[in-house]
Amino acid sequence: MSSSNIGIVGWQKCTLLDFPGTIATILFFKGCNLRCPYCHNPDVVLKNLPLIDLQEVITFLNKRSGKIEGVVLSGGEPAIHTGLPEIVRVLKNLSMKVKLDTNGLTPGMITLCKPDYLALDIKALPKHYNALGYAKNDAEIKLKESLDVVRSMGNQAEVRITVVPQFINMETIEEIGTLVQGVKKVFLQNVNVAHPVIDSSFIKKCLPYNNEAMIKIKEIVGRYVNECTIRGGD
Ligand code: SF4
Repeated sequence: MSSSNIGIVGWQKCTLLDFPGTIATILFFKGCNLRCPYCHNPDVVLKNLPLIDLQEVITFLNKRSGKIEGVVLSGGEPAIHTGLPEIVRVLKNLSMKVKLDTNGLTPGMITLCKPDYLALDIKALPKHYNALGYAKNDAEIKLKESLDVVRSMGNQAEVRITVVPQFINMETIEEIGTLVQGVKKVFLQNVNVAHPVIDSSFIKKCLPYNNEAMIKIKEIVGRYVNECTIRGGD
């Protein structure tokens, strides 16, 4: 498999934080089928960064056998890459556990990859995904399919909701709760206005929620799921 059809453009060699219960390495895949204006990985999404050879990653993992236990596939959006299931197969042959971070718009790829842990981002109501740069009109179908996979994986999956006032607000939050109903774990994260993002003019107009509003949102979503947690504080 050549690195040109894989799309790895970033690599964090070790993390204790990104794969629950697992010491992992993170691979970042180029490109995305969304253009969230608040995206913190604009270079990974938009630029043609140099590709990293998978063989280099394999050599690293072989040398760290017994220390690194898993690999996080992140991005960008890893699931737009047709070579992803083959990468997962290669990693599992190395006895690596695999976590997939995805926006959930390509559920068929989740099914093909069969990750050991799945983190699915929900960014808005499906009907608002075009405002996030999604070019198709099937967000509702695709997200429902992906959320069914999350539900079927129980504690081995989570939904992450970045709470951006332009997309997640008191008018939409009950419907978001209904969308994720039955999921075991939901994490809410406040929008971070400090990093370089895809659209700096959007972020300048963005007023993040205060703690009180985040707790209110957590209470509402928490009615629909087993566990709802605010990441980075409560
Ligand atoms: S935030 Fe995620 S889904 Fe949105 S553009 Fe960035 S990588 Fe894609």
